[in-house]
Amino acid sequence: MFSSAVAAEEPITPPVQVEYTQLLIGGKYVDSASGKTFPTLDPRTGEVIAHVAEGDAEDINRAVSAARKAFDDGPWPRMTAYERSRILYRFADLVEKHNDELAALETWDNGKPYEQASLAEIPMFVRLMRYYAGWADKIHGLVVPADGPHHVQVLHEPIGVAGQIIPWNFPLLMYAWKVGPALACGNTVVLKTAEQTPLSALLVSKLFLEAGLPAGVLNVISGYGPTAGAALASHMDVDKLAFTGSTVTGQAVLNLASKSNLKPVTLELGGKSPFIICEDADVDQAVELAHFALFFNQGQCCCAGSRTFVHERIYDEFLEKAKARAMKRVVGDPFKKGVEQGPQIDLEQFNKIMGYIKSGVDSGATLELGGERIGTKGYYIQPTIFSNTKDSMPIATDEIFGPVQTVFKFKDLNEVIQRANASRYGLAAGVFTKNIDTANTLSRALRVGTVWVNCFDVFDAAIPFGGYKMSGVGREKGIQSLSNYLQVKAVVQHLRNPAW
Ligand code: NAD
Repeated sequence: MFSSAVAAEEPITPPVQVEYTQLLIGGKYVDSASGKTFPTLDPRTGEVIAHVAEGDAEDINRAVSAARKAFDDGPWPRMTAYERSRILYRFADLVEKHNDELAALETWDNGKPYEQASLAEIPMFVRLMRYYAGWADKIHGLVVPADGPHHVQVLHEPIGVAGQIIPWNFPLLMYAWKVGPALACGNTVVLKTAEQTPLSALLVSKLFLEAGLPAGVLNVISGYGPTAGAALASHMDVDKLAFTGSTVTGQAVLNLASKSNLKPVTLELGGKSPFIICEDADVDQAVELAHFALFFNQGQCCCAGSRTFVHERIYDEFLEKAKARAMKRVVGDPFKKGVEQGPQIDLEQFNKIMGYIKSGVDSGATLELGGERIGTKGYYIQPTIFSNTKDSMPIATDEIFGPVQTVFKFKDLNEVIQRANASRYGLAAGVFTKNIDTANTLSRALRVGTVWVNCFDVFDAAIPFGGYKMSGVGREKGIQSLSNYLQVKAVVQHLRNPAW
């Protein structure tokens, strides 16, 4: 029996109202050019929360023009770096002040637990914005010693108009990862939010205007991928594109960018991250961390530890305890205190996850726990565990993006390194061991962008994040993100009197 299935209860009324549903273009909230709207749905019920202006190619044109004007004629790239920094700091303060309201809107539109949004995600947003506010006035070029009678400066300049496309799993955090460094470097932005979760970006952007962000510096377009997203990726007047989402869409936007104006592209894509539990591990701690690594955010994390590799000596004990932990997972209305898991984002993802669960069963893996829908309303899924899975099965190779943990047995380090790396993805990995040599060996051998040793999902603003292989191109967060938004210009001056 699962610990909680309160999903069937009447949903709690969200403690927030929807105020902003229009597009943000040139500092004003406006209707879409076509006048069209689309519904954004409550994942707890599938009911409409609000109708939101639906941006398409024409609105992307309007937004890019506003961003271009703000870059070419506006004060943003020309104001002192200190002034830009102060606006970012003021924005962070306002977001902190409106923490609860933003968290409530995020929960309503996305289905994630309110406690997770209010205690972790909004504070991380604020921390990230302050981190980049701190960078704004510390970005500078170099003077390099060149052969010959030359004084050589390497200038770091903003690129121009940055197009940014984000997914629905962490709407506000993805906003912060993208907008923070782009604005700190002096660029202007057109942000295309995910069609499933347009609301929080519209509200938080109002706070940006209140903080003193000049009109047109940040434009926010709600709308669909093949229309608004594709128009942004292929726009001739967008100077840089940053994308987070699925690998397939990442390939499509890279193609659009290269076929249009060859704008540089950074991509944060999917993953199938191994979480490796070695034979010396404390099993209780390993169970808890592996549970968190997979089930956090309803399993909708690009870096979810979705391949749990357990050493054969502790495998049986681990599996029993992992099942007991998952049985206790509190699934229900994300506004309810103590709830660990809310509904999946929408019917499409719900059906995709249920399809993978069926494929696991059909292909002969052992369904140890869960596998069913909870209730009849909304998109709640039981925490699910598979064992006896072959590495080649779709549930072992594909990104499920749901609450489905797959447990594998391994014998030795070389074997697990080879199996962990045998994936088209390379986003992240977890390693659980008390042995420093084992930790060092695995950290270096795993072909992934992040290795978490005896921890998981640590997302400090200063730590770079990104993927090897088909998990992406480039890094976000940290100092690395700045170079995504800077052009490098060499200025070579002839020296009349080289002796001095
Ligand atoms: P997606 O890649 O389709 O959507 C991500 C963003 O890209 C959204 O804003 C979407 O509107 C936009 N988009 C879609 N098609 C586009 C196109 N042709 N041109 C330009 N932009 C386009 O992802 P999804 O449909 O939200 O989810 C599908 C899968 O992607 C998930 O099941 C999961 O595997 C993966 N995913 C990964 C992440 C991540 O953080 N790495 C986040 C969400 C989803």
